[in-house]
Amino acid sequence: MADPIQLQRRGLLYVLSSPSGAGKSTIARMLLEGDSEISLSVSATTRPIRDGETDGEHYHFVDNDEFDRLVADDAFLEWAHVFDRRYGTLKSQVTRKLDDGRDVLLDIDWQGTQQLKQVDPDIVRVFILPPSMDELERRLRGRGTDSDEVIAGRMERAAAEISHWAEYDYVLVNDDADVCAERAKGILQSERLRRNRRTGLVDFVRTLIG
Ligand code: 5GP
Repeated sequence: MADPIQLQRRGLLYVLSSPSGAGKSTIARMLLEGDSEISLSVSATTRPIRDGETDGEHYHFVDNDEFDRLVADDAFLEWAHVFDRRYGTLKSQVTRKLDDGRDVLLDIDWQGTQQLKQVDPDIVRVFILPPSMDELERRLRGRGTDSDEVIAGRMERAAAEISHWAEYDYVLVNDDADVCAERAKGILQSERLRRNRRTGLVDFVRTLIG
């Protein structure tokens, strides 16, 4: 039987971070599939669009002037420099959904996660680790899109990103994407049921015991 008070809750911010190549996008996709209550926040970035990416779907690709304008307009919940480019979470992608009781998935780095935690201490932070650094490098090379120099830079950056693992609420090791995605979904389901997110509970319990 459906829970009559299930929909009466505040939306939550579900943050996924990992070094590049740890499989975060796959886990994010699996988390979003078949769950209409959560959607992805599409960030703005100054990095160039890659083959296979669509503007407005993977990112809002903007130039430096536009990014400056968005910063000046206070349009970001957080923004940071990553790989010498700028990336930011747009308030417009998040606030309305949360107010409507829907959840938002954010694929952002540790810097953005730290900033968000200041703005909203109630966020759920999940870090995804690769099973090994060798496997991480193999996955980065498998993409075939980046030069050796870029990959060496990303491996260095990966170690720096991983060093922030302890700032997260949950840590998953992605040695099997299906298992990892199931765990990520389990975290989401449990966090949705937290007492402090369920605004209808007080009224509901009153109907039970007055
Ligand atoms: P990529 O360029 O490979 O898509 O992303 C590079 C890194 O930037 C990833 O670690 C990703 O999580 C991070 N990133 C993407 N969007 C944002 C954002 O809006 N804010 C922050 N702080 N990091 C982001």
